[in-house]
Amino acid sequence: MTALMDPVPLHAEISPKECLVGLDRPALSERLAGLGVPERQQRMRVRQLWSWIYVRGATNFERMTDIAKELRGTLDTHFTLTRPEIVTEQVSVDGTRKWLLRLDDGKEVETVYIPEEDRGTLCISSQVGCTLNCTFCHTGTQRLVRNLTASEIVGQIMLARDRIGDWPGAAPEDPTGLPNGERKITNVVLMGMGEPLYNFDNVRDACVIAADGEGLSLSKRRITLSTSGIVPEIPRWGEEAGTMLAISLHAVRDALRDELVPINKKWPIADLMDACRAYPGLSNAKRITFEYVMLKDVNDSIADAKALVKLLAKIPAKINLIPFNPWPGAPYECSDWEQIEKFAEVVNRAGYASPVRSPRGRDIMAACGQLKSASLKQRASERLAATA
Ligand code: SAH
Ligand code: SF4
Repeated sequence: MTALMDPVPLHAEISPKECLVGLDRPALSERLAGLGVPERQQRMRVRQLWSWIYVRGATNFERMTDIAKELRGTLDTHFTLTRPEIVTEQVSVDGTRKWLLRLDDGKEVETVYIPEEDRGTLCISSQVGCTLNCTFCHTGTQRLVRNLTASEIVGQIMLARDRIGDWPGAAPEDPTGLPNGERKITNVVLMGMGEPLYNFDNVRDACVIAADGEGLSLSKRRITLSTSGIVPEIPRWGEEAGTMLAISLHAVRDALRDELVPINKKWPIADLMDACRAYPGLSNAKRITFEYVMLKDVNDSIADAKALVKLLAKIPAKINLIPFNPWPGAPYECSDWEQIEKFAEVVNRAGYASPVRSPRGRDIMAACGQLKSASLKQRASERLAATA
C-alpha cells in the first residue's frame, strides 16, 4: 500500500494537531480528503469515525480497529480526540461534580454535573466569561472573554462522560450519587458561563452534534439553551437548533430589569415576550422556562409574583425560581425562605408546578451564577503562596 500523504512539512510539527471532536460530517470528510482518502471511501470512514467518537467515546485512533492500520496512524499524526484538560474536579456532598477546565490557550471554564435519581443534567459553558454584566452574576464580573469553539463545547460533554463512565462498557471511577438509569447524562443545559446566543454558530453546531441520533443522541427536547434575552437571535435559534429555551427574566418591570439584566435596555421585556410567543413548536409539552432569581427586597414581593404570572399568562411556560447563590462581594442577598415560599405559592396557584430550583453544589461553588469564583479564589491563594 502506498503512503496516504506526502511527507509532513516541517512547520506542521510545531502547529498543534487539530481535534476532531466537534467537527460535523462534511468537515470530517474534508479532513479525510486532505489526508488523501479517496472520495468513494470517505462516507464509510466518516461513519466509522463518527461512531467511534460519539457512540463509543474513543480518545485515540488506535482503538478504531475497523479502520485500516495505516489510516489510523495517519489520523494520529494529524489529529487528536482530546478533551479540555481538567485542572480540578470537585465533588459536592450532594453528588454534584464541578470540573475546572483549561483550554488550549490557557483560558479556563467550568462544567457542572448534577445527578438525580432518575436523570443527570450537565451544565456546560459557551464562553470564557461573559460580555454582559448582570449585577447578580459572578461570571459577568470576569474581564477575559472569548467564544468557545464547537470542539470545546462538545468536549465538555465528552469529558463529563469520560469521568462518570457514561460510555458503553465503561464504569465510573467514583459511582457515588450517580443516577440509576443506563445513561448518566440525560439532559444538557447551556447555563454555565457565557451568553450562548452571542456565540451562536459554535453553540448551534455543538447542539446539532449533541442531538445527532447516530452519535451522542441527546434529543433536542433534552437540551436547553438559557439566554439573558438576545431577542433577534431567538427566532433564528428556534429554526436552526430548535432546542428547549430558558429565559433569564428575573424582573417583570423594565426599570428593574434594566438594572439586573442590562441587556434589557436594548431589548425590553415586551420585545422579549413577543420573541417567546413566536418560538417555534411551543405547546404544553414544549414550554419555555422562565428563570427568576430570588433577590431579597429587590424582586421578591407578592406584587412581583402576581405580575409575573400575569406577564406569562398566554405563553406555554414553566417558572423556575432560583434562590440567589451568593459569591464574594455580591451586592445582593438571597430572599428569605419564607418569602420564597410565599412567592412560590402565588406561582403555584396560577398552575405552575414545583417552581423552586433547589440549589445544588453550593459547597463547591457550582450553583448557578457562582461559576469561576472558586478558581479565582484558588488562584489568589496560589499567588499568595508563591510570593510568601
Ligand atoms: N448567560 C445565560 C446562561 C448562563 S446563566 C443566561 O443569563 O441565561 C444561567 C442562569 O443562572 C441564568 O438564569 C442566570 O440568570 C442565573 N444566575 C446567574 N447568577 C446567579 C446567581 N448568583 N444566583 C442564582 N442564579 C444566577
Ligand atoms: Fe452573562 Fe448570563 Fe451571567 Fe448575565 S447571567 S452576566 S448573561 S452569564
